[in-house]
Amino acid sequence: MALVNEHFLKLPNNYLFADIAKKVNAFKAMNPKKEVISLGIGDVTQPLCPAVVEALHRATDEMATQTGFRGYGPEQGYDFLREAILKNDFLPRGIHLDINEVFINDGAKSDTGNIQELVRWDNSIAVGDPIYPVYIDSNVMIGRAGVVENGRWSNVIYMPCTAENNFVPQIPDRRVDIIYLCYPNNPTGTVISKEELRKWVNYALKNDALIFYDAAYEAYIQDESIPHSIYEIRGARKCAIEFHSYSKTAGFTGVRCGYTIVPKDVTASTLTGERIALNPLWNRRQCTKFNGTSYLSQRAAEAIYTAEGKKQVKQTIDYYMHNAHYMKRSLLDLGLRVYGGEHAPYLWVKTPDGMTSWRFFEQMLYDAQVVCTPGVGFGPSGEGYIRLTAFGQHESTERALERIKKWL
Ligand SMILES: *Cc1c(COP(=O)(O)O)cnc(C)c1O
Repeated sequence: MALVNEHFLKLPNNYLFADIAKKVNAFKAMNPKKEVISLGIGDVTQPLCPAVVEALHRATDEMATQTGFRGYGPEQGYDFLREAILKNDFLPRGIHLDINEVFINDGAKSDTGNIQELVRWDNSIAVGDPIYPVYIDSNVMIGRAGVVENGRWSNVIYMPCTAENNFVPQIPDRRVDIIYLCYPNNPTGTVISKEELRKWVNYALKNDALIFYDAAYEAYIQDESIPHSIYEIRGARKCAIEFHSYSKTAGFTGVRCGYTIVPKDVTASTLTGERIALNPLWNRRQCTKFNGTSYLSQRAAEAIYTAEGKKQVKQTIDYYMHNAHYMKRSLLDLGLRVYGGEHAPYLWVKTPDGMTSWRFFEQMLYDAQVVCTPGVGFGPSGEGYIRLTAFGQHESTERALERIKKWL
């Protein structure tokens, strides 16, 4: 008899976005004539930029020739892309990495979910709350998160990120083995300063902890004093693994490509106290379970680093940030408390009069036909907030804000 991994059964069945879709569909069924605008989705809407499209065409034509055809590529990714990453994302910031510290991925979700395989099941984990659900759920599946009680996992340390602490968690008062941080943050759209991030790196070094740092939104940072990478902080290459993605940077949610940095100085301990470098372990893991990101995707990603590519990608980011600024201004004018939206495509809005996240979601759907994401869906500290995304078309975003204005 095959026994199932019962940890999977602990996961709540209903996925947040499925719940939202159910409620939206129910509304649409009752109000077939009313147009619903979604500011809830976390997906991009603008097409790939011309430099990327040309690179895809070129790579496809190459693959159609006898000499240009490529089969399996290196599991770690092609050097042309790894080199472009070092040269463009790190060297200009004074960060020196070895090419073998760069692992091309098929988007950051896989690696943020899989990285926890490198450490024992009984490590303690801490997460910012609210949070991108992948970090916790991947730990649940392996049995590290314990059991769920009142919307909290018993073995997960939740570090509240609220307006009171400027959405940067307090350093834990006890030892934690593994810390997940994400800045610029999904869902709150807020950032961390170098000084605050330095406190985390120092905590990790002092307590022999690991930081898994998700930088999926770094391309949205508008102010150079805000760190794009945790390796801007001295000592981070001893304690941090960092995840990047081209999904939000360049509209690659359907193309699939990103990268993970595993510095050679990052180690974890055996029970007998021997230090083991995680870089060769991750390499071994990838060679066994991953056969590389497609050549086409990697050539497409390389094109982002050309002069035209950079300019075009920035235009699209500006397009979304224009939405974000417009949304933020409009909502502030209405007297709402609004956070984020300056260096990230997300706005985190406090619900008025102590309304719950779901109640605000339903009222906005019924009275304004605008869809948001209830903050509580991202963790207990998200209660009393909603998330709005700036990934929509300008016109429909403006229309949505007009309706919210009328409603409030
Ligand atoms: C979108 C997102 C990712 C990246 O997802 P991909 O798999 O690269 O498409 C990673 N982390 C966070 C927090 C995200 O919002």
